[in-house]
Amino acid sequence: MPQPPWKAWYKIARWRLRRLSIFLRDLYTCRKCGLVEGDTSLLVCDHIKPHRGDAQLFWCEANLQTLCKDCHDKLKQAEEQASLHTRGVWH
Ligand SMILES: [Zn+2]
Repeated sequence: MPQPPWKAWYKIARWRLRRLSIFLRDLYTCRKCGLVEGDTSLLVCDHIKPHRGDAQLFWCEANLQTLCKDCHDKLKQAEEQASLHTRGVWH
C-alpha cells in the first residue's frame, strides 16, 4: 500500500523545527503527567485533534502539544479503542 502523503511531512525540516518549538513552548513538559524531559527523543509532538491528512491541522501550533512517550502511547491506545467502539468493529 502506498504511504499517505502526510507521512512525508514528518520527515521535513519544517516539522523538526515545529516540533522543537512546541517542546520549547511547553517547557519540555508532558501536558498529561507533567513529566519534564530534557531528552527530546523521549518526547512526542502530538496532534490534539487528529489531522487525518489535513495540512491546516497538521501544522497548527494550537493543535500541537508535548507528551511523553508513555502518555502518548496510552492516549493513542485509548483513542484506537474508542474509535473501534464507535464503529462497532473489532479486529
Ligand atoms: Zn506524560
